[in-house]
Amino acid sequence: MHPPGADTVLVRHGEIGTKSEQVRRKMESQLRDNIAAILSERGMADSVSVERTRLYVETAAERIEAVTEAVTDAFGVVSASPAVEVAPTMDAMTDALAAAAENHYDGGTFAIEARRAGQPEVHPFSSHDIQEQGGATVWETAEREGVDPEVDLDDPDLTFFVECRSDRAFIFLEKRTGPGGLPVGTQQPVVALLSGGIDSPVAAWEMMRRGCPVYPLYVDLGEYGGPDHRARAEATVDKLARYAPNQDLHLRVAPGGDAIDRIVAETDDRRMLVLRRFMLRVAEHIADETNAVGLVTGEAIGQKSSQTSANMRVTSVATEYPVHRPLLSVDKTDITERARAIGTFDEATIPTGCDRIAPELPATAASPHEVAAVEPDNIDRLAERAAKSVTVLTPADPPTSD
Ligand code: ATP
Ligand code: MG
Repeated sequence: MHPPGADTVLVRHGEIGTKSEQVRRKMESQLRDNIAAILSERGMADSVSVERTRLYVETAAERIEAVTEAVTDAFGVVSASPAVEVAPTMDAMTDALAAAAENHYDGGTFAIEARRAGQPEVHPFSSHDIQEQGGATVWETAEREGVDPEVDLDDPDLTFFVECRSDRAFIFLEKRTGPGGLPVGTQQPVVALLSGGIDSPVAAWEMMRRGCPVYPLYVDLGEYGGPDHRARAEATVDKLARYAPNQDLHLRVAPGGDAIDRIVAETDDRRMLVLRRFMLRVAEHIADETNAVGLVTGEAIGQKSSQTSANMRVTSVATEYPVHRPLLSVDKTDITERARAIGTFDEATIPTGCDRIAPELPATAASPHEVAAVEPDNIDRLAERAAKSVTVLTPADPPTSD
């Protein structure tokens, strides 16, 4: 919802504001670049500017909604408001409030929330004055339009926001929520293990939300995987790329078939742990090559036998890189909800290849030592070979059916 003529999106960030001046400037400029990249990818080359504690996108009234939507996809954005800019005078602000009331106030309760920035002598009125005169204007407009006005300052149905700065003022009607977090690109990159399932894309998204670029890696499970899984992983990456089009988000596909065949042939109840450790080793090589500083999985405590608290110790020690598990304590229903919200959920769930590899009675409390003892002796070499044979998919690559 926006007032008539809205042509500016006000963008608010959160944690960035708690940083030192130097860090804040860097993060704000990354946020500005990221918003510009999302806008340009969606065909809107509007200019994004940074002012202390705020960013602004100046756009055209006809695409104000699309721009607001795009802005609230940028990591680091806490909220955004489609606003109309007017002169910082009482007359201009009350005129804009009257127009907003005419268009959007059709019953229920309302409130005016006004903020005034700058030295007191800059404006001949206080924020309280704006609220009083603005409230009277909305009230009169409503009555003229045949609406029965009612004020509720605590929990209004509609809030008219006014922000009056020294050089300009803004009127808006909502604060649309963004993902929060930090601008992607303000942290060092990580390798995200993507299975094509529900959890791993959400985990990758959460790391991006905290500022980390991700290099997504899919380990092809050979005869246990298949084109469906890989296509699902590819589709997921496309969805993630919408949030960060200026990042190198290309799926890396590592052929794991040979290693998986050996793992299935040579292991039994500890098979899934051997498999996870193999995948982490492949990811480690990719991290070495790309200068990534950590690995990410969609694991959550107790979700599967390989994800018991004991078994995560076994998998974690297979690599020197930290294994980040942003969904560690999140319930599956909540993960699924998040996947829907960010657009990576696919109704047609397909069982992942891992389900077909799992033994009937997998170990739930193994030790690193036990698992290391049953691993194929050349597992490191197999992982290295799989990593060396990685294919990096570019968006131009047609869908594969091998
Ligand atoms: P997801 O966790 O993505 O929904 P899932 O739950 O079926 O899929 P799990 O068996 O829970 O997969 O796997 C645990 C984690 O291991 C995944 O979240 C993912 O990070 C990683 N993983 C599993 N299979 C693959 C694969 N084929 N390629 C890359 N990573 C994988
Ligand atoms: Mg899972």
